[in-house]
Amino acid sequence: MALARDAYRKLEEIVGKEHVTDDPAFLDSYAFQWLAELVRPKQSHFMPRPVAVVMPASTEEVQAVVKLCNEYGVKAKPISTGWYHWAAPLKEEDDTIQIDLRRMNRILEIDEKNMFAVVEPYVICAQLQAEVMKLGYNINIIGAGSSTSIVASACAYAGPGPSTFWMGNNSDNVLGMEWVTPTGEIIRTGSLGSGSGWFCSEGPGPSVRGICRGALGSRGAMGVYTKCAIKLIHWPGPPELEPQGTLPGYRLPIPDNFRVYTIAVPDWDTWADIYYEIYDNEIGYIFHRQFNLAGADLAPALWLTYIDPDKTLGDIEELLEKPEIKELTEEMRISFQLILAGRSMRDIELQDKILDRILEETGGWKVKRFCEQDMAEFTNMYLQRMGHKHMNFVWVGGYLGSWMQSGTPDWVKGYVPIAIKGLERDAASGKLVQCGGDALMGCGSQLGGGGMTGLEQFVSYDPADPESVAAGTQHMVDAVKDAVSNGFPPGKELLYLQVGQKDEEIWETLEKSAQPMVYHFQRKIKEAFDPNNIGDRMYSILPEEKG
Ligand SMILES: Cc1cc2nc3c(=O)[nH]c(=O)nc-3n(C[C@H](O)[C@H](O)[C@H](O)COP(=O)(O)OP(=O)(O)OC[C@H]3O[C@@H](n4cnc5c(N)ncnc54)[C@H](O)[C@@H]3O)c2cc1C
Repeated sequence: MALARDAYRKLEEIVGKEHVTDDPAFLDSYAFQWLAELVRPKQSHFMPRPVAVVMPASTEEVQAVVKLCNEYGVKAKPISTGWYHWAAPLKEEDDTIQIDLRRMNRILEIDEKNMFAVVEPYVICAQLQAEVMKLGYNINIIGAGSSTSIVASACAYAGPGPSTFWMGNNSDNVLGMEWVTPTGEIIRTGSLGSGSGWFCSEGPGPSVRGICRGALGSRGAMGVYTKCAIKLIHWPGPPELEPQGTLPGYRLPIPDNFRVYTIAVPDWDTWADIYYEIYDNEIGYIFHRQFNLAGADLAPALWLTYIDPDKTLGDIEELLEKPEIKELTEEMRISFQLILAGRSMRDIELQDKILDRILEETGGWKVKRFCEQDMAEFTNMYLQRMGHKHMNFVWVGGYLGSWMQSGTPDWVKGYVPIAIKGLERDAASGKLVQCGGDALMGCGSQLGGGGMTGLEQFVSYDPADPESVAAGTQHMVDAVKDAVSNGFPPGKELLYLQVGQKDEEIWETLEKSAQPMVYHFQRKIKEAFDPNNIGDRMYSILPEEKG
C-alpha cells in the first residue's frame, strides 16, 4: 500500500523534503525488528512496512503530522530509540506513518535546585546521566540499558531498572509531559498544564496516569509524547565515570564510599527473606539480579571469560570442567548484585554493618570471587551505566523474555520453580540454549523504596534457525499455560504473542482477564481521544459487542 501523493507532498511541506521518505529500502529498515520472527508469518524478521517515515524536529511538526494522519485516515506510530518491535506498524492492512523522533534529541533544561531535567524523545539515558553526574545527580536507567529513550519509558512504556529500588521507576519519576493527542491537540500534564512548571505530572492540572500512563503505558497507540521532565536523584560518586581496562570487560573503579557485592543465598525462601530485609533497612543504591541472565549453569564461567582479555566464548566449555568453576557455579546458583553508596564514610560503614547482620541472620553470603576487585569493578561499570545490553543476546543472537509478573518477593518466589521447570522442559529438545532452567533476572525492586519485584526468564534462541525460532514461540505458548494452570496471570510472553495475534484472539484473552470492564473503559477513552482511530491496538480495548 502507498500513501496518497498529495499526503506525501504535505509531509514534505511539514518537515522538509529530506526528512520524509517512502523509499522501500528505508521503510524496510524500520520494519526489520528483533523478536519479529517469533510471531510473524513464515518467521519473517520484518514487521509490516510503514507507508512512509517522517522525522519531525518540533512539537508543532509532530502535531501537523498527526493532524495529517487524521485527515487521510492513516495510522501514526511514534518510535523513539526503537528497542521494541511494537514501535513498528502492527498490521499489513493498516497504512501507517512511522514518526521517527530522532531529530528531537535535546536536553532542554536541567533544574539543579528542583532536581529535574526536561528532555526530548531521542535523548538517551547515557546522555542525560553524563550531564547530571557533573552536578552530583543521577537518573534511573531502565533495565533495557543506557541507549534507550527516557521519554519512551517514562511516558509510553515501563521503566524499572537496577537502580529503581533507590531512584524510583521511570513511570513514577516522570514529572510532566507534553502530549500531542491522537487528534493533534497539545496537552501539558500536571503542574505544567496549570502554568506552574515541571514538578508534578499528576496535578494541579490534567493527569494522564489513569487513562494512558498507568503501568505499561500506551505503547505508541495514543498520540506522541514530545517532551517530559524526569526526576534527578542524588549521586554520591565522582562527576565523571572513568572506565578502565580492556574492551569488552571495562571496569569502573569503586570510590571509598561505595561497595559492590554479589550475594548468594541457599534457597528461594532465603532469597525472598533477604529482599524484605533490604527493603526494610533501606540500604543499597543498585539492587538487581543481573548476571543470571546467562543461566545459572553458565553465568559464572561466562562473566569470568568476559572480563579476561585473553579468553573468548569458545573457552567456556573447557572452563566449565574446572573444579573451581563447578564449585563457584553451585555457590552462586541463587545470587544477585547489590551496590551500596554512602553519603559519607560513616553512612557506608553503617550500611556495610547492616548488610553483614542481614546475611548473618538470613544465612546468605558474599560470593568471594565475584567481590574481588576485577569482578567488582566490572559489576560497578555494568550496573552504574547499563551499557552492556548486547550481552542479552550473547549465546546465539536472539532472546525472548517470559514470566516477569510483578509482585511481592513471597509471591514471586511462588512462580520460580514453575518457570525453571518450564524452561528445562522446553530447552530439552536442544533447540533453545540449555543454561540450567534458571535464567531468571530482574530488579531488586520495581518500586522506589522496595515492595515489588519480578523475575524475567531469559530464553535464548537462534533467530536464523527456523526450528529454534519455533521452539521459542512454543515456549511462549507453554509459559502462558504454565502460569495460568498454576494460578498466576500470564507474563510478558503474552505481550509478545499478542503482537502476532488476530484481534479476536486478543479479545478472547482480555475477556478472560480478572476485570474485563477495564478494556471497555479504555474503549470509551479511546473513542474520546482518538475518534479517527489513528492509534493501533497497543492500547488494549474490548469492542462494545463483547460487553
Ligand atoms: C533487551 C531489552 C530489555 C528491556 N528491559 C527493560 C527493563 O528492564 N525495563 C523497562 O522498563 N523496559 C525494558 N525493556 C523495554 C523498554 O522499556 C523499552 O524498550 C524502552 O522503555 C523504551 O525505549 P525504546 O527504545 O524501546 O522505545 P521505542 O521502541 O521507541 O518505543 C517503545 C514503545 O513506546 C512507543 N513510543 C516511543 N516513543 C514514543 C513517544 N515519544 N510518544 C509516544 N509513544 C512512544 C512506541 O511506539 C513503542 O510502542 C527492554 C527492552 C529490551 C529490548
